[in-house]
Amino acid sequence: MNQPHIFFLPLMAHGHLIPMLELAKLFSSRGVRTTIISNPAFSEPIVNAQESGFDIGLKMIKFPPRESGLPDHMVSLTQFITDELIGKFAKAVDLLQEPVEKFLQESNPSCIVSDMFWTWTVDTAAKFGIPRLLFHGTGFLPMCASEQMWLHKPYKKVFSDFEPFLLPNLPHQLRFVRTQVPEFQQVEIESHFSKLLDRVRESDQRSYGVIVNSFYELEPDYSDHFKKVLGRKAWSIGPLLLWNNGDEERAQRGKKSAIDAQECLTWLDSKKPNSVVYMCFGSMGIFTHAQLHETAKGIEASGQDFIWVTSKGENEDKNEDDIPEGFEERTKGKGIIIRGWAPQVMILNHPSIGAFVTHCGWNSMLEAVCAGVPMVTWPLCAEQFFNEKLVTEVLKIGVPVGSKKWQQGPAEGVPGEALTEAIRHIMVGEAYEMRFNIRAKTCKEMARTAVEEGGSSYKDLSALIAELEHLKHM
Ligand code: UDP
Repeated sequence: MNQPHIFFLPLMAHGHLIPMLELAKLFSSRGVRTTIISNPAFSEPIVNAQESGFDIGLKMIKFPPRESGLPDHMVSLTQFITDELIGKFAKAVDLLQEPVEKFLQESNPSCIVSDMFWTWTVDTAAKFGIPRLLFHGTGFLPMCASEQMWLHKPYKKVFSDFEPFLLPNLPHQLRFVRTQVPEFQQVEIESHFSKLLDRVRESDQRSYGVIVNSFYELEPDYSDHFKKVLGRKAWSIGPLLLWNNGDEERAQRGKKSAIDAQECLTWLDSKKPNSVVYMCFGSMGIFTHAQLHETAKGIEASGQDFIWVTSKGENEDKNEDDIPEGFEERTKGKGIIIRGWAPQVMILNHPSIGAFVTHCGWNSMLEAVCAGVPMVTWPLCAEQFFNEKLVTEVLKIGVPVGSKKWQQGPAEGVPGEALTEAIRHIMVGEAYEMRFNIRAKTCKEMARTAVEEGGSSYKDLSALIAELEHLKHM
């Protein structure tokens, strides 16, 4: 009865749900009661976890709520692409406060673990006298960097889009250009999105603390900066994917794969160690027609074998295809194109994979770290430009493709030659063996050690559970 009972509120997007589910599994495996509050469109991975033996409760709350006026098919964050829609999304999320509180009233909660966009959970937690822990699903460096960007606005002090500026007060000298800062942040025009972000920031500051899907040894300077300089409470308990996932979950990870896992493994088995480039841009990355042509040109000219995952966002599940005509025939045997969802973790852990061309989503980046695979970094939006710096300048386990523009819609602007050069830099010649590969393998070892009994993440998780038990008895 005295066991803490944690309620998890993930956002409706696989990049957010997957790590939150892993977090719930982790607490559950350490004897903590867990319940995820989700909606039918995102219940499948949770039900799968239950079926594979995890004792995790699931409470379904309909999204979008009827009163929001949104059509029933608007279920995923990826569909809210205009500012007007974001306004409607924020209203719909607010409407869930009442049903969630009603449910919590009956459930004797001891803690809420919330995604940042559920801003009202900070008030709900206060009403119930319990802590609200935030789970952004990102790391310490991006959290520290975005705080300093917000505080100092260094992009206002440069005269052109191309003049680099230094982000002040951080443990490393990280430089950016203005176009890598989202436009909504630069222009400061009030919009639905900016209002939502203000609420996120305000509720963030009032939270009890932050659970971070990272491990101390990955970014020690930034973990210290977050706690000591920014004065925040935080626990690093990652990498979550290393804790308790079976092979099948690693193959699926969130959605059903668009390719037969065995077929993919057989193909990879036929390739030499470290010889295949894996290219994927998360659950949302989409590109213009012109960019897809450049990308095809770039990967072909690199001369490397590859797996390229395409057709995300709006095009997923449709028959539209922007891969240039003739490309597939020409690269037959050398490459596979996966249209839709790829079994990413399974692929990254295959010994034939030598490099990962990634948009630097935190999960993808961490999955590459855990697999010991060096990266070609191609950030698109969100906090990905900060994550790129961790990979290329702090850990030095990747090279940038030269992405200079923060863009949420169909992305463009990276010439094929830049991709060829970045891939060859990592894959060809001594550089691969000597530098990137060795450092990436060291990171992989550190990640494993962190989650073992006595490791840094293991200890931080124990400390957090002990604190929650203590708070429950107060
Ligand atoms: N993912 C996957 N197959 C795909 C695309 C993505 O398994 O084809 C998984 C990937 O392994 C990661 C998550 O989806 O766990 C994407 O999260 P990330 O933070 O990298 O990017 P986001 O989708 O949030 O931009």
